[in-house]
Amino acid sequence: MPTKKTVQLSHGGGGKEMNQLITDLFFKAFNNPILASQEDAAKLNMCGHIAFTTDSFTVSPIFFAGGDIGKLAIAGTVNDLAMMAAQPEYLSCSFIIEEGFAIEDLQTIVNSMAEELHKSGARIVCGDTKVVPKGCADGVFINTSGVGRILNPAISASNLQIGDAIIVSRDIGRHGAAILMARDGLTLESSLYSDCDTLWPIVEQLLAANVKVHAMRDATRGGISAVLNEWAVASNVGITVSESAIPVCDEVKGLCELFGFEPYDLANEGTFLLSVPKDIAEGVIEVMQRYGHCEQAAIIGHVTDNQVGKVILNTPWGSSRYLDLPQGELLPRIC
Ligand code: MG
Repeated sequence: MPTKKTVQLSHGGGGKEMNQLITDLFFKAFNNPILASQEDAAKLNMCGHIAFTTDSFTVSPIFFAGGDIGKLAIAGTVNDLAMMAAQPEYLSCSFIIEEGFAIEDLQTIVNSMAEELHKSGARIVCGDTKVVPKGCADGVFINTSGVGRILNPAISASNLQIGDAIIVSRDIGRHGAAILMARDGLTLESSLYSDCDTLWPIVEQLLAANVKVHAMRDATRGGISAVLNEWAVASNVGITVSESAIPVCDEVKGLCELFGFEPYDLANEGTFLLSVPKDIAEGVIEVMQRYGHCEQAAIIGHVTDNQVGKVILNTPWGSSRYLDLPQGELLPRIC
């Protein structure tokens, strides 16, 4: 039986083996003229206000229902640009690979990165590969940074206005629940998959429709609880949300009951919140619902001038409580 080809320390050594890995794998998948020029640094032609972001990805397991570390590494950075109304243009990409990692798995990861890039048109224009001895990393870690031109500079976490409607783009908690499920080997018992996805296409539609968005943020680590609390503080407002209006699928509800989590605290990787003037909120939802994965977009609450800096959750039974920032480490290595 042929032995599985694996990444060797020599693949990160700067010599012949590394050159071959880069040419055969990365250049083929990410092919574009800037990357192919192989200069010491990518030469970019950009003007206007530029958004710049970076993120490192260490998710465990590397493959999960609805995605893998590669899809996550592209969607994560592209989404942070999209949330600033910046068109994702150029990305960097660094791999830290553990000696012995299967080349076949690396190929799968690189392929899903290339596929995800197509959704926004962003390009990887520079990168780096390091290989560390067995035991010094867990499979593969990926860092991506990205830049994009800001198309609407007014969008900001500190721009929520009293009376705004708060919209969620889809059902919440899927990514956190999918990772939890993969770790506990519950995969076969559920059809649950991560929401991991590139949000630029829907943001592009909203910008094209000239929607007056005050703020957008993807609800990644810390879930919607984190975003709502960050917004309340940054904009010096109160936010009230209604539990019955927040979409949560049955699988996520079930896992939350089983593990004692709240869906509001669970991570998402393709779900975002918007704050928009109340009178245009229904129209915004109409634009969103025409778009994939946003069929469940809903108004979940509003911005108020009482309890400044706090988020209040109204329950279906008429009671209310503070929705706080999640505490401690819910699930390490989620993204
Ligand atoms: Mg973000």
